[in-house]
Amino acid sequence: MKTLRTIAELRNALAPLRDGRTIALVPTMGALHDGHLALIAAARGDCDVVVASLFVNPTQFGEPADLDAYPRDLARDERVAAAAGVDLLFAPAAGELYPQGFATWVVPEGVAEGLESNHRPGHFRGVATVCLKLFELVRPHAAYFGRKDAQQLAVVKQVVRDLNLEVEIRAVPTVRDDDGLALSSRNAHLSSTDRERALAIPRALATLDLERARAVLTEAGIEPDYVAVADLDGETLAVAARVGSTRLIDNVQL
Ligand code: AMP
Repeated sequence: MKTLRTIAELRNALAPLRDGRTIALVPTMGALHDGHLALIAAARGDCDVVVASLFVNPTQFGEPADLDAYPRDLARDERVAAAAGVDLLFAPAAGELYPQGFATWVVPEGVAEGLESNHRPGHFRGVATVCLKLFELVRPHAAYFGRKDAQQLAVVKQVVRDLNLEVEIRAVPTVRDDDGLALSSRNAHLSSTDRERALAIPRALATLDLERARAVLTEAGIEPDYVAVADLDGETLAVAARVGSTRLIDNVQL
């Protein structure tokens, strides 16, 4: 596996591979876990060349403290990605994707409105913009996204459709820990008692019912940002809640 830190390096590495081989892209923010590995495995199974990106995208974060606290360990992620069969790991610095004077944005409406956007204004502008940039840089045949971030998946599909991008978006089911908690890089911030409390989220979703889900969370003392049924690439029961200081999201398709 090659790690590429600049756009020039990425372009040079990809050029000889554009010879009829299929290229997969797996965008991540690093701190790789089994959820990411499921995306990489799907990409590896489908395509000849697997590119993973590792970029903690500053423009999709609201609070600077949240961005600063995001776990980062490039050396570990390189080992994990290589072992998973990634061919090229694109890990640019923030200034590489957002140089001085950067001023052009993809601002998704429609499915990007409500839910996460009510609590993280501008989040999907950051997501859509960085995804378009990554799609343009890598020009993959297929890009892999987790259902765990259901609204993000729906937004990316909408962007691809609306801007006529030539990439197929493939959705990968949510990977959970044995206790049901959806894997997330943010789980590392949960104390053991908070982690126990957080299990109310998968329990709430397992009811497959909006009112019962609300009741399960209330009983666990969790005040969610939202519990909602929405059409996110299919009818979906979605939850976002802060447990301790950690904000978790999860969902189930109905
Ligand atoms: P992140 O690094 O958190 O931005 O996630 C990168 C990609 O991995 C996104 O498409 C996520 O939806 C996906 N992902 C994160 N956690 C999981 C999970 N537990 N199961 C499946 N996909 C996931």
